[in-house]
Amino acid sequence: MLLGPDSEESFYERRRGVRILGVWVDDVTYDEMLTRLDDFITAGGAHQVATVNPEFVIAARHDAEFRAILNTAALCLPDGVGLLWAARILGCSLRQRVTGSDGVWRIAEQASRRGYRLFLLGAAPGVAEEAARRLCDRYPGLVVAGTYAGSPAVEEEDAIVERVRAARADILFVAYGHPQQEKWLARNLARCGAAVGIGVGGALDFVAGVAMRAPLWMRRVGLEWLYRLWREPWRWRRMLALPTFAVLVLWTRLTGDEQQQAQ
Ligand code: UDP
Repeated sequence: MLLGPDSEESFYERRRGVRILGVWVDDVTYDEMLTRLDDFITAGGAHQVATVNPEFVIAARHDAEFRAILNTAALCLPDGVGLLWAARILGCSLRQRVTGSDGVWRIAEQASRRGYRLFLLGAAPGVAEEAARRLCDRYPGLVVAGTYAGSPAVEEEDAIVERVRAARADILFVAYGHPQQEKWLARNLARCGAAVGIGVGGALDFVAGVAMRAPLWMRRVGLEWLYRLWREPWRWRRMLALPTFAVLVLWTRLTGDEQQQAQ
């Protein structure tokens, strides 16, 4: 088990996780994630959470800013069956896949119990509103303090930050796709006044029913990526990251090449 990422050593020494091709991934379960979020909100300040998958890891290899953001995030969730596989190959372990798509529901449930205020930012116009409606239907008492599609354009940032501040959100979900959502949060979370900011990719589309998740059996056997490729074939180019990821992990294992891991 390797030690945590690049900042606040004493805090990260208590983090369990794995560094995969130079990107830190926390070994947490859903329950532990919820406990961490409670801690972040109690502590105040701004805590960025990332939902890491193999595409993130490959993108981070060529994007130093993105890599630095992931490696200084307060929590990097293992959102991708490929990461669990990679950890095993590298002689470490990640106990559970913790996805943004399921995480949004679980966090909303926790928020409804604790009285945390959510803000849903991003996705196509109307999607965040529908996602909020569905979350509130399932968890009565949940406070969605704001929704807004907006855009990750820098010119819009000040106005969006003002909206989130005014809503007094505790947890901000940002659905602008990676790495834009992570960069947006790195630039703006502290200004937003929310204790937690999470990049959730396409999760709001799933919650709103705009996109369909893979059937449970496919998710269980680790084939969600295949279903996604079938439903959204235009993703094929992006998904070339998956075989690249697999080859690099195997190469790292074979050569014991720390450079591949620590780059
Ligand atoms: N999105 C957006 N504005 C943008 C780009 C993307 O609102 O300028 C949204 C898009 O509608 C979708 C999400 O961001 O809801 C991206 O989902 P995807 O699954 O592609 O995320 P990734 O896998 O890149 O994290």
